[in-house]
Amino acid sequence: MTTILLLGGTSEARALAALLVADGVEVTTSLAGRVADPRLPVGGVRIGGFGGVDGLRSALGDFDAVVDATHPFAKNISANAVAACTTGDTRRPLLRLERPGWADRSRDSWLWVDSHEEAAAAAAGLGGRPFLTVGRQELARFLPELQEHAVLARVVEAPELTLPPWWRLVTSRGPYALPGELALMREHRADVLITKDSGGEYTWSKMAAAEELRIPVVIVRRPARVSGVPTVHDVADALDWVRTLNTMSR
Ligand code: NAP
Repeated sequence: MTTILLLGGTSEARALAALLVADGVEVTTSLAGRVADPRLPVGGVRIGGFGGVDGLRSALGDFDAVVDATHPFAKNISANAVAACTTGDTRRPLLRLERPGWADRSRDSWLWVDSHEEAAAAAAGLGGRPFLTVGRQELARFLPELQEHAVLARVVEAPELTLPPWWRLVTSRGPYALPGELALMREHRADVLITKDSGGEYTWSKMAAAEELRIPVVIVRRPARVSGVPTVHDVADALDWVRTLNTMSR
């Protein structure tokens, strides 16, 4: 039976781990260790960086194949997975599982930008009370432009950096439902939503809420990825890929 290294940190990775375990596949999910109290998947779990491409390559000795189900904005670990799996002596089949982005659902009131700095500048010109939902790691990139704004920042875990006292920090974890998103945005009197193209359904409600409240959205495009990696957008398709590997290895 194939042993799988599942690069995780997403709801899709947790869902896939559950399906693989139910299928009798030996799977170990790898988490970066960014949050102190992560939602743990079923199956094996390892936590912490590998130490770059070489470290990941060494870890591959314990696995037959790799599924990269990391977040669309986690581009470094994905690039490392491509390098480790496709070069050197320890090559392994690699699948990318990536949830669809929101480009197909774009609205006239959305402004697409290429970086968080651009997002900050655009949002600063659009409103005075932004709802900032780009994650803790990116907050610092919004401080120069939004220093004076009444920002509502939502993160999973509080950041270490000091924020202006007039910024309001909300720590919570999705998924979020539309009524709660509407209430939060109304309560803050948010006049612009800043997000990245995380995609999928898990955090879509804020986009629907922004539309209902007629609030513009500034959205950061996904980073470019290494091309040529087999990619699926659905957890069921990732399960099929592993099943096919199993069949081939018999
Ligand atoms: P990143 O910039 O692509 O990765 C930076 C370094 O963190 C990697 O080089 C690797 O260290 C380590 N790392 C990242 N993901 C790992 C994993 N699953 N297992 C082991 N090591 C990992 O990643 P990031 O954007 O900081 O995201 C970190 C994790 O959070 C990812 O697993 C991702 O799925 C999850 N996440 C990210 C976002 C986001 O917006 N970026 C949102 C939700 C969840 P070494 O080089 O030492 O191996």
